[in-house]
Order: sequence, then C-alpha cells, then structure tokens
Amino acid sequence: MEIELKNITKKYGANTALDDFSAVFTTGVYGLLGPNGSGKSTLINVIVGLLKRNSGEIFFDGKSVSELGETYLENIGYLPQYPKFYPNYTVYEFMHYMSVLKALDKKDIPERIDSLLTLVNLEAYKDRKTSALSGGMRQRLGIAQALLNNPRFLILDEPTAGLDPLERIRFRNLISGIAEERTVLLATHIVSDISFIANRILLLKNGKLLLMDKPENLLKAMNGNVWLLTVSPELVMEYQKRFQISNVRYTEAGCELRIVSEKCPDVNQADLVLPNLEDVYLYYFGERGAE
Ligand code: ADP
Ligand code: MG
Repeated sequence: MEIELKNITKKYGANTALDDFSAVFTTGVYGLLGPNGSGKSTLINVIVGLLKRNSGEIFFDGKSVSELGETYLENIGYLPQYPKFYPNYTVYEFMHYMSVLKALDKKDIPERIDSLLTLVNLEAYKDRKTSALSGGMRQRLGIAQALLNNPRFLILDEPTAGLDPLERIRFRNLISGIAEERTVLLATHIVSDISFIANRILLLKNGKLLLMDKPENLLKAMNGNVWLLTVSPELVMEYQKRFQISNVRYTEAGCELRIVSEKCPDVNQADLVLPNLEDVYLYYFGERGAE
C-alpha cells in the first residue's frame, strides 16, 4: 500500500498551517513529530477528509482520492486528538454503534468486536460504561474503534496523552504489532512515544516538513554535535544563554550539562557523546541557537 501526499497546503484565513507538504507512506510506523501548533492535527484532518486543503493532492495506491471517494475512506482508521465516547454507552455498545456507522456487515460485527477488544485488552470491560474508563482504557478503546473496518492506514493523533509510563509501554507494543501489515501515522510532540517504534520520523515545524528519515539516520547526522560538560552551578545560566541544553544533571563534581552544539562548548573539558532523539528534537525545535 502507498499513500502519497503531494504539495498539500492548508490555510486558516491568513495563517498557513500546512505549507506545501509532500511525503510518501508505505508499510510501518511513521512518527509525525513537532511542537504544539506545528500543524500535525491539520495534516491529519486533511488526510482523513475532515478539512479541505487549499491545494495539493492525495494519492492512494496511485489513484487520486478525489476520484476514489468512499473507497479511500474505507481504508482509513482514525483516532482523533480529542476522541468522544458516548458516556452512557458501554464499551461493547460503543463498538457496536461505531460498527454500524462504518457500515460493517451485520453478521460479522460481534466477532469483530470481540477480537478487537481482546487485541487491546479490554475484553473484561465490555459491559463497563465508557464514562467509567481510565485514560489508558479510553485510548485503547479509541484504537479498537479505529481498527473496526480493518484499515490499511491507521492514523493516531496524540494517542498517548494522559497515559502513565506502563500504559505507554503497552501502547507501543500494541502499535508495533498492528503496524506489521499496515501503515500507521502517529502524531505526537513527545519524543519517547515514537523513538522505539517509528520506522520513519517526520519533523514538522510551522507547517513545513523539515525532514523525513529513519531514526538511525537522524541520530547519525547529529554525531559530533552533542557534548557533556561539567561546570560550577553559578555558570549554568551563562551556558543556557549561549547554548541549547538538552539536560542538566547535578552531580558531586558540579553541574553536568548536555549541550547540543556544532561547535565544541569548551575545548578543554567537553566530551562528545552519542546523540539521542531528544537532542535531535532540541536541535530542530529549540529556541536558542548556538550561532
Ligand atoms: P498541532 O496539531 O501540531 O498542535 P494544529 O494543526 O492544531 O497543530 O495547528 C496548526 C496551526 O493552525 C496553529 O497555528 C493553530 O493555531 C492553527 N489552527 C488549528 N486549527 C485551527 C482552526 N480551526 N482555525 C484557525 N486556526 C487553526
Ligand atoms: Mg494536534
């Protein structure tokens, strides 16, 4: 399967939220990473057809989605950033309602719901009201409903908001399994959501795609730009003014700064270290440049 986005632009009045965005997605997990307001939800809403683009075109397996219409949407599963669950419905009733909306074959519905609730580990809660679910359960229900139509393209908008660390780990494992035979596009501003599972990372800034690459290539490109330097505590502010600091750690020897900089911050004392994706994020999205 292949989804191609070609020169997509979306404006809200004079504000260009998405600026000439182009990318091709095949199988695997695509992590759409960018700060709040960078245009992630706008892009997703354009892809799922909730927002009209000002220009550009989307192709699904080479065919324009403007011509495919419903056939295109049948291949998509979508979890919105702020999903709504009807509070008086039980988990099962909600899944049933969504199945009807998605026009699933009536005779397939009960089995489909059961297998999805098992997949996301909610089978024990099928009779619980959706209003009584925890954050992690709600999010798993959101993923289950997005999978009802067995979509080849699953789109998740900030799916880990409100999850505790254990739920985040479970979530990552669930997504990795789902993505074996599908395309998953996962939007987030949290690096660790995608650092372990994304096959490709897209960096989105002010509506523009800065780059799209394998995580290992992003890390490789950052080699030689991340330093550890221990300074006395009263110098920390000074360094923060001059450099992008991705971490500060107080040790017995002083203050250990993790500095992202093309130039060595201190020839005598700084040590080069291996970059991580948070360093990459800071490099591209941090406010303070070393230049
Ligand atoms: P993200 O999902 O990355 O946080 P959004 O796509 O929500 O970013 O927003 C991108 C930009 O578009 C922001 O500047 C935001 O203020 C603006 N925006 C988003 N939705 C609307 C809307 N419905 N009307 C006007 N501006 C909007
Ligand atoms: Mg958003």
